[in-house]
Amino acid sequence: MNRPMVALIFFVGSWCSAFGQTHTKDTLTPITIQPLKNNLHLITLVGGSEFNMPRFGTNIVASVGPDGILLVDAGFATTGQAFADTLKTLGNGKVRIVLNTHYHDDHTPGNRFFADRPTILAHRSTYEVLSGNFFHLTGDPSPNRPNVGFDDSLIIEFNGEQIQAVYAPHCHTQGDIYVYFPNEKIVAVGDLIFPDEFPYVDLPDSGTVVGYTAQIKRFIDDFPDDVTFFPSHGRTYNKTDLRVYHQMLTETTGAVRTAVAAGKTLDQILQEKVLAPWEKWIGGFPTTSMEAWTRTIYAEVSGLTAGKVSVCDPMTEALVKGTVQDAIRRYNELKASQPDAYDYSEAHVNVLGYQLLGRQRMADALAIFKFNTELFPGSWNVFDSYGEALAAAGDTAQAIVNYEKSLELNPGSPTGAEALKRLRPGK
Ligand SMILES: [Zn+2]
Repeated sequence: MNRPMVALIFFVGSWCSAFGQTHTKDTLTPITIQPLKNNLHLITLVGGSEFNMPRFGTNIVASVGPDGILLVDAGFATTGQAFADTLKTLGNGKVRIVLNTHYHDDHTPGNRFFADRPTILAHRSTYEVLSGNFFHLTGDPSPNRPNVGFDDSLIIEFNGEQIQAVYAPHCHTQGDIYVYFPNEKIVAVGDLIFPDEFPYVDLPDSGTVVGYTAQIKRFIDDFPDDVTFFPSHGRTYNKTDLRVYHQMLTETTGAVRTAVAAGKTLDQILQEKVLAPWEKWIGGFPTTSMEAWTRTIYAEVSGLTAGKVSVCDPMTEALVKGTVQDAIRRYNELKASQPDAYDYSEAHVNVLGYQLLGRQRMADALAIFKFNTELFPGSWNVFDSYGEALAAAGDTAQAIVNYEKSLELNPGSPTGAEALKRLRPGK
């Protein structure tokens, strides 16, 4: 492919993470619909069991009127059928347009359940990620793939409103969009805001802290004062909330940058809990933890990630021409001979593992995940992913060993605990 298209799955799967509120099965209705203003409704889906996670809500802003239904995002695989069925009872029941804010698996899998094949739009990179190509590896398009990809912005006249879809480059992912409903002064922002939590920036998909922070500033500067922002997860934000959020982003980035400039290593920064003054922003999930946010900022400000091509590019080239052992050899050779040329971080190697897993290349996937545990033996996440792959391959005993190792490194990991509950029933 022409450009780095890293993607999919940073920690456990390509869920977005994080949401101030998590929910248990017993306390939530899976689908709720709440009227907003004029034609707009807020639909909340509760899913996430597919990610080995406690369930959580995804918010969808819908325009329902004479032209039919326009949706911002389509939600989870686990809620897809029920959501499609529910929409048949809303307005004239015809889903005409879906806008995907980004590719993550709590936003796009619902696409495939709309039987009448609506127009499904997303940024070009979302389209490409879901087309199944990953550097030099080819694959089948995801059934969740949108059918229109665009580059910058669109105006869609629908239900009497000029709805605007706008690209926000390199923020939460490479290809986020937000959708503005000017009549109601409502902005559906996807994961461009994680209310009251550290944000999740998907570094392997070329999300950036600097881009994320700049977009928050644009929301503050470019919109009317009485606008309301609807994030995919959690409560609504106004511009006052956003100013506080922006301050947290700049202060936490500054704190890590100062520590890096003073020569501190990542381990020191984590041990000293440099971000402790902002601990009230810790989210409930691995990707919005203080550790995750610290690691993300560190990767960017120390130059590990900024502008570098993923090591998956040369690794997949070697894999296509040879074997998985050639890919591993290529990684080791490049890291030794050109340590600054590529982004060698664990997240990229992990993504490659998930890409192979998704292509049912089990032996190759297991080799890559195992290699990542050897490269990064202090990372709970790589053991968690290796455990997930072993479980998928049917090796329950080794899956348990690796999940236990992951939990030893991070006793708070909800994914490891959930997986072990399933793998060791009755324990
Ligand atoms: Zn997301």
